[in-house]
Amino acid sequence: MTVAPRYNVYTGEPEGGDTPAAARLGLEPPRFCAECARRMIVQVRPDGWSARCSRHGALDSKDLEKR
Ligand SMILES: [Zn+2]
Repeated sequence: MTVAPRYNVYTGEPEGGDTPAAARLGLEPPRFCAECARRMIVQVRPDGWSARCSRHGALDSKDLEKR
């Protein structure tokens, strides 16, 4: 299942904004919620990151690695 984000999670701009190269590689944590473009609380760990939207909950880099 693919979720189509409404906002660029790295810039907070409406869909279609530029995604930084580091972000595409999964090195850069998202900073904005794709659903509401709120600024998320981001925590970077040695093995990844987690980002939390006060409305939509947490996103974890481990979730994205799942296939
Ligand atoms: Zn949100």
